[in-house]
Amino acid sequence: MEEHQVLKTRVCIIGSGPAAHTAAIYAARAELQPILFEGWMANDIAPGGQLTTTSDVENFPGFPQGILGLELMDNCRNQSLRFGTRIFTDTVTKVDFSTHPFKIFSDATTVIADSVIVATGAVAKRLKFCGSGDGDVGFWNKGISACAVCDGAAPIFRNKPLAVIGGGDSAMEEANFLTKYGSQVYIIHRRDTFRASKIMQSRAMNNPKIQVLWNSAVVEAYAEDQKRVLGGLKVKNMESGEVSDLKVSGLFFAIGHEPATKFLDGQLELDSDGYVVTKPGTTLTSVHGVFAAGDVQDKKYRQAITAAGTGCMAALDAEHYLQEIGSQVGESD
Ligand code: FAD
Ligand code: NDP
Repeated sequence: MEEHQVLKTRVCIIGSGPAAHTAAIYAARAELQPILFEGWMANDIAPGGQLTTTSDVENFPGFPQGILGLELMDNCRNQSLRFGTRIFTDTVTKVDFSTHPFKIFSDATTVIADSVIVATGAVAKRLKFCGSGDGDVGFWNKGISACAVCDGAAPIFRNKPLAVIGGGDSAMEEANFLTKYGSQVYIIHRRDTFRASKIMQSRAMNNPKIQVLWNSAVVEAYAEDQKRVLGGLKVKNMESGEVSDLKVSGLFFAIGHEPATKFLDGQLELDSDGYVVTKPGTTLTSVHGVFAAGDVQDKKYRQAITAAGTGCMAALDAEHYLQEIGSQVGESD
């Protein structure tokens, strides 16, 4: 068995999506010799984060023909390594931000760090019903998605009826967005009122392409003819129990996200949905010297490019902090 190691660093980065790697690239180029924990199937997602679960990424600048999510994240990882980031394929299980320097723990390693960047992302919640799974058993990524902005423009959804599940702001926003591509968009909601803000609700309700199926739940997804893509849904009315058929080529879950913040164990201020609270316009958290970037602190935009942008901000904020405490030079392990 390998021995548990203890290492020192000026910057420890937790996470492996676009935010973490952008932070690593900036911190490494500033010669801060960062240590990055990329996780091992943390929250059931491979190192590289959410983009490893999708195919083409077409809205990340610099790739006019698009790029595979996995390839983009491999490139990011290689760029982090190129400038000297040390990457550990371990999941951080615990942190201690109560005293400085901070401590970050995985099963194999303890890191003692002058500053920390939390970039552990979030996971879109998915519903489970017959036909909702991956691979041969379902239509995940073959018509079912959890990100309309990412996938809505795909050719399989053009001029086809589509559906969104949810009754919050995300569902309203995604349904409105999808009307640009789909012939008709159904919002399927389990209750008879939306929790979305009034303005978002009225935008959706006033859109002639949107129709709401109240008190409804999807119980099954099925294929289009003999093809391996989504062709329709069985939708159950929760009041009457009646199950009806809804022909759609796309289904988008908009039932909320779960930020990956449990391992913080209450040591950073979180909002009521569990996202890390940052000072507006910065990546500063409630603990001086700890910064947060990417989807773990952003429940609004949730895009790779915004995650990368805040990753850059976090590295610059950490660099300023290290200057402030006189730790911008010196040895790291
Ligand atoms: P994430 O990508 O969420 O990655 C964080 C990762 O850190 C985790 O996945 C995990 O591997 C690791 N981690 C978590 N906890 C720990 C821990 N305790 N210790 C160590 N490591 C940990 N955006 C776009 O801009 N364009 C698209 O086309 C697009 N398509 C998408 C398709 C899908 C199916 C999904 C789900 C999302 C898509 N997005 C897209 C959104 C985009 O993926 C996210 O906004 C972006 O990845 C967020 O980056 P992040 O750096 O915050 O972290
Ligand atoms: P919310 O938690 O606000 O809404 C989730 C919706 O999904 C709810 O309507 C909920 O139903 C439904 N839902 C949850 N679980 C299930 C389930 N198992 N089966 C069926 N339906 C389910 O999440 P959002 O992502 O919409 O919003 C998160 C936060 O982000 C909010 O604070 C929101 O205001 C903000 N936001 C703001 C935007 C903007 O201002 N432009 C855009 C997007 C998000 P029920 O209502 O019955 O609980």
